[in-house]
Amino acid sequence: MTDATNNLKKVSWQSENCLSCKWFSPSDPINADILTNGKCLHPELQKFNLIISGRDWCNLFEEISQEQIDQIQEKALEKEE
Ligand code: SF4
Repeated sequence: MTDATNNLKKVSWQSENCLSCKWFSPSDPINADILTNGKCLHPELQKFNLIISGRDWCNLFEEISQEQIDQIQEKALEKEE
């Protein structure tokens, strides 16, 4: 096996990012994507007032449910009306 093949085997795609974390509070919940910034509301991290983007990540990640996404978006739509 070549060195290049060995290196490729070590590459893993980071799919668990803030955008799909239940603690992410995006600045624009309706159009949120990986470049959208926002706050982290994790109980242990909230005190730091972190500004993060959808592509960030930390080891406190917990996957968001579709139900929570719907609730966040409905709230944001109500505010726009
Ligand atoms: S910083 Fe960590 S806990 Fe906060 S939203 Fe991102 S992955 Fe989740």
